[in-house]
Amino acid sequence: MKKEPQKKSPSYVDESQAEYSYDCLDCSASLLLNECYPKEARKSGGLLFRCFKCYIKHRNYLQNIDEKNQKVRDEQAEALKKKVKEKAAATTSKKSAAATGKSAAATSKKATSKKATTSKKTTTSKKATTSKKVAAKRTRASNKVAAKRTRSTTASPAKPSSSTSTTGFEYAHALWDKILCEYTGFDGTYPAEIYSRTKGSYNVYFLQDHTFETNVPESKLKLPPPGAKWGELRRRGLLGQTFEADGSTYDIVSLGKGDKKHHYLCRDSEGKEIYKTVGSVQNICGEFGWSLGGD
Ligand SMILES: [Zn+2]
Repeated sequence: MKKEPQKKSPSYVDESQAEYSYDCLDCSASLLLNECYPKEARKSGGLLFRCFKCYIKHRNYLQNIDEKNQKVRDEQAEALKKKVKEKAAATTSKKSAAATGKSAAATSKKATSKKATTSKKTTTSKKATTSKKVAAKRTRASNKVAAKRTRSTTASPAKPSSSTSTTGFEYAHALWDKILCEYTGFDGTYPAEIYSRTKGSYNVYFLQDHTFETNVPESKLKLPPPGAKWGELRRRGLLGQTFEADGSTYDIVSLGKGDKKHHYLCRDSEGKEIYKTVGSVQNICGEFGWSLGGD
């Protein structure tokens, strides 16, 4: 590996760009570096390249997987990485192939140790829940007694809000805050909205391609760049506004629910209602000039 460090320098990549072609992971189309997506991965030396069409398709595909199947998605991302590594190993020298083998072994080691910790965690967390439940029962019972005692005299002092004290999670970002967020399997960060928070992590909606990701740790979030227009817009802030698209004028009536939770319900001048994605509507109203992928 020490023999050819210049291979990984950006200048090498630039020089060879004309003759070096990459394969789309999905359709195997031959791609020049500047046709590879995501753009951010181009300088990192060839992880996860797809043609633009397959790139957008893949992100839409991820979006359609049930939120609860986060694990499955993680495995898929992992498998994809493996596939890329194998590809890289096949197309480069024997030396680098050996290196990949080493790292693959390391990954599997990690995986086994992860399994061990997970099973440990489940047992301890079970215990924790049971003892929590017992504690909650106890508190309720003692509260009842206390209430009886104080009912006829003075009002009992305000208790700390149970919603914060029982969850005990602290968040740096508020619900509906705009943030830049990493996307599993891709380099870089993307404009997104926090649409819920649970157990110390975040569920985020990616504005530019109408996808979402769940259980995102805080370490994957960053504040929007200072002064970024999109960073100040809030989802509810657009309710009641109007915008023009496809030759029609739309009122933004309400936020969608369920399947449509990342859509605005919009009504055109003839009273016809239509759901439009949160990302596309914000892009129009905020004039961000994003070229949106996905729907
Ligand atoms: Zn493709």
